Amino acid sequence: MNGASINGIGHAEDRPDGQANGITNGFSQASSGSSHDDLPEFDATEHPHRRYNPLTRSWVLCSPHRTKRPWQGQEEAPQTTSLPPYDPKCYLCPNNTRATGQKNDDYSSTFFFENDYAALRPQAVAEEKNQHPLLQSHPARGRCYVICFNPQHNLTLAQLSTPPFSPDEHIVPIIRSWQKIYKQIPAENPFVKYIQIFENKGSAMGCSNPHPHGQVWSLDYVPEEPSKELASLEAWSNDPINQDPKVNLGVVDDHGRPSMLLTLAKLELTTPGQPRVITSNEHFVAIVPYWAVWPFEVLLLPSQRQIRNILQMTESEVVSLARILATITCKLDNVFKCSFPYSMGIHQQPTSGKEDGEFAQFHVHFYPPLLRSASVRKFLVGFEMMAEPQRDLTAEQAAKRIRDCEDRHYLTTMQQQ
Ligand SMILES: [Zn+2]
Ligand SMILES: [Zn+2]
Repeated sequence: MNGASINGIGHAEDRPDGQANGITNGFSQASSGSSHDDLPEFDATEHPHRRYNPLTRSWVLCSPHRTKRPWQGQEEAPQTTSLPPYDPKCYLCPNNTRATGQKNDDYSSTFFFENDYAALRPQAVAEEKNQHPLLQSHPARGRCYVICFNPQHNLTLAQLSTPPFSPDEHIVPIIRSWQKIYKQIPAENPFVKYIQIFENKGSAMGCSNPHPHGQVWSLDYVPEEPSKELASLEAWSNDPINQDPKVNLGVVDDHGRPSMLLTLAKLELTTPGQPRVITSNEHFVAIVPYWAVWPFEVLLLPSQRQIRNILQMTESEVVSLARILATITCKLDNVFKCSFPYSMGIHQQPTSGKEDGEFAQFHVHFYPPLLRSASVRKFLVGFEMMAEPQRDLTAEQAAKRIRDCEDRHYLTTMQQQ
């Protein structure tokens, strides 16, 4: 893998003598310091380095030299699911009664209900009085919902990618539900400022129920992660340096301003060999971001225009989104021939006010914890807890692993054999 997957910005392909052609990365953020002639040339597949995440304005330490050991010998038997299509004990299956006594609809596509054990409540309360500046708090209001993706208990988004299922028929309805939720919750609850749509999949991510489902938390504030990112997007658009077409690559948002994520999509799609691209279609591109922390982290971005929120999508963008979600989740399952656990979430414009989130760009993060096999996961511990995140496998190596996987789900392939 050495040297095979680095973007074309001036890295030497091989450096037997350590003296290959010079690095010409004009946008290098990492201040590597010294440029002594006697130093070996930087090789991102060999040398420890830090990568910058412009969305969260944080760094990750990459130690690619530690991945020199081969992947062979770590194959595990494919995980075959033996779950039933209907589980009478599942609180998400159609017609079943939940712990609160409420009965699920006899649904045939998606189903959406308020979480019986919500982390937030809609009632307003007064601020706590006489707080010490060191002990600050603020009341939080919201409502939490659960959305079942499909009535069948033993399916995942990944399996909906492959016949007899299809993204157009089985994932488009999920996106339609997300759209409905994004519109309906703030209309019914005017205090709502942000809607966090996410899916926690697999017991490795603390999800106790295998029934395909996601969650929607609506809040009266914009939480930490999207808030940080929205500030970064705004700062990027307003920074005069990014007006330079060499930086923004000639891509601008619908107000003619630089757009970090549109530029990133173009950069990834136009880099020779597309080393971090997993898949792309007419409207979207999925990459392992340059600054990824999780081994097989994925960032899904619109590639053609600014789409602030899920309601701004055209019919054909919704279909494209369904198809690329299918491809990503299916390929992830195929990496280790297991139901790949992950936390997936949508970041988009806050629902409060038109001005809010002017610079927002809809995107989806996948944070999967698996590292070398279905049973070896990465933990953020030690140095990562105390100092900063660290990874061994580079984003380019991870992207290649995912990209090389089939678009057909491994379980379907096995059933046909
Ligand atoms: Zn179920
Ligand atoms: Zn984000």
